[in-house]
Amino acid sequence: IHRRWRAAHASGDAPEIEFARGSEGLLPEYDVIVVGAGLSGCTIAERCSRALGMKVLTLERRAHAGGNCYDYVDARSGIRCSKYGAHLFHTKHARVWEYVTRFSEWVPFDHRVLGRVTRTSASEEGKRARVLVPIPPTRATVNALFDDADVRSDEDMEAWYERERIHPEGGRAPANGEEAALSRVGPRLYEAIFKHYTKKQWDKYPEELDASVLMRLPCRTSADDRYFNDPWQALPRRGYTRIFENMLHGDENITVRLNCDYFAMKRDGTLPKHKFLVYTGQIDSYYAALGMPKLEYRSLRFEEDGLFFQEAMVVNYPGPDVPFTRIVEYKHMPNQPEGRHREPGTLVAREYSSATGEPYYPVPNPENRALYEKYAELAKHEPGVAFVGRLASYKYFNMDEAVLNALEMFDNLRDTGALVVKE
Ligand code: UDP
Repeated sequence: IHRRWRAAHASGDAPEIEFARGSEGLLPEYDVIVVGAGLSGCTIAERCSRALGMKVLTLERRAHAGGNCYDYVDARSGIRCSKYGAHLFHTKHARVWEYVTRFSEWVPFDHRVLGRVTRTSASEEGKRARVLVPIPPTRATVNALFDDADVRSDEDMEAWYERERIHPEGGRAPANGEEAALSRVGPRLYEAIFKHYTKKQWDKYPEELDASVLMRLPCRTSADDRYFNDPWQALPRRGYTRIFENMLHGDENITVRLNCDYFAMKRDGTLPKHKFLVYTGQIDSYYAALGMPKLEYRSLRFEEDGLFFQEAMVVNYPGPDVPFTRIVEYKHMPNQPEGRHREPGTLVAREYSSATGEPYYPVPNPENRALYEKYAELAKHEPGVAFVGRLASYKYFNMDEAVLNALEMFDNLRDTGALVVKE
């Protein structure tokens, strides 16, 4: 069963709507060409068409729209899975929530993550055991990991943190991920949960990364064990892919072409004329001809399994003892096809971080930031082009931040007259 499902997942299930492939038969001219059909590109394309009536051409290098949010129902197991890893939508921005609910029904879902952590018990003379604890850390996490914790209230937990924390000298702000984590949770929790997970995810220790990376997770004093704090946390009832279909399909102003490499079309002269370009790919690829150093991005690869084995949708493995960072079990998600979670069988993906493959993550640290600034300076002087999204603006956006940024970029481009409708 396991092997069969693996093959099925690799081939994937067809999306409900097939967009056209290749660059044959395009019009000679469009108002705007959008490179990339992920969250940023689709938001811009949708707005350019529906708010401004522009003729939009969306070019996507891959065989599907949706970027790394792409998901599909696996044909054999009937389970909805994500080709590029689990995506949990959460936002505090009313504008984003209002916007995304135009394209999908959403099922409320408070994401909770458990971590399998190796603890060393002082009382049992260095005896090691693997325990399952809430991540981000809560009272239950520290009680399970440290014999001397005995935390029973918010006040106890705050006092525990305060005893553990190590602040940077002279009251300055944390300068990197390690200082950030130590000043939030102290060395013991840092070692158990953050240090090695971060090394596996980024191939860098936290001290080589910006503080912001280690500030993403909340560190709570309460018993709240949700992964995110945002007021809206939900999953699209029929999957993310459907959202992109709803944004792009059936709109006569928008032409979508899959399997179209913008750079190849530019090279071979098949790129239609356009008044404006929105580029959402990697910014360093746009400037590849200049021979500047490449920015770092992280990718993920997944190893899939077919046994029902874990307690939560996501179980993190923050220790150095296994090479993967987390295991995702899709069946726990409430937006599975009707009744699927009552049937036997499952699909599990072990997540490995890697330097090669489709880019998922920019790598926030001073070196990459300095290099990105050089690209951004070039981009500023690029006439008729806007650089939008996680890859092009080299920012570790969450999904909602990508949508908000694209909406705001759109407003800005419209208000400054950069987007013009063809006569
Ligand atoms: N992190 C960690 N241990 C964990 C979970 C997260 O050290 O169990 C750190 C790690 O550096 C990670 C960052 O927090 O890259 C952000 O985690 P998040 O789950 O937000 O990452 P994403 O879902 O974007 O991969």
